[in-house]
Amino acid sequence: MMILHYPHPLLLRRTQDVDEIGDHVLEIVRGMFEVMYKSEGIGLAANQVGLDMRLFVANPSNDPEGEIVMINPEIVAHDGRQVGDEGCLSFPEIYGKVTRSSAVEVEYYDLDGKLCKMEAADLPARVLQHEIDHLDGVVFISKMSPGDRTVNSRRLKELENKFLRSKK
Ligand SMILES: [Zn+2]
Repeated sequence: MMILHYPHPLLLRRTQDVDEIGDHVLEIVRGMFEVMYKSEGIGLAANQVGLDMRLFVANPSNDPEGEIVMINPEIVAHDGRQVGDEGCLSFPEIYGKVTRSSAVEVEYYDLDGKLCKMEAADLPARVLQHEIDHLDGVVFISKMSPGDRTVNSRRLKELENKFLRSKK
């Protein structure tokens, strides 16, 4: 598994729902946690490693007990507003302020195929929103404050050029 960088097209379109949760999904999830920890990330969506599947892994607390796996997640309620710095494994060396809901409620399937609900606030809520955006093909720079986008514009251009060169 390799992390795709912006502007890879898989990062920019909605992923397909997972319709069967079996051993293959468990294998994928294990691999994704491995890649995420190795890259020192706190969340990773399947399309970031080239898989067109609506699932992500996360661990905002960096505690082995705090691992989150969400399959076919949807935000069903949100509340409040928080502004904070974000980065993304698909955007190396790019950081900026993003406004998010301060709390969310998410419905999703777990690895046993059971429909679950999770409420989160603050950083965990930010991570869930960032990852679910990925699954919708929405990347965090589209929600970044205009000032921070300008600060990062040269680096973004570099990523775009690098991707174009890799296509040749
Ligand atoms: Zn990301």
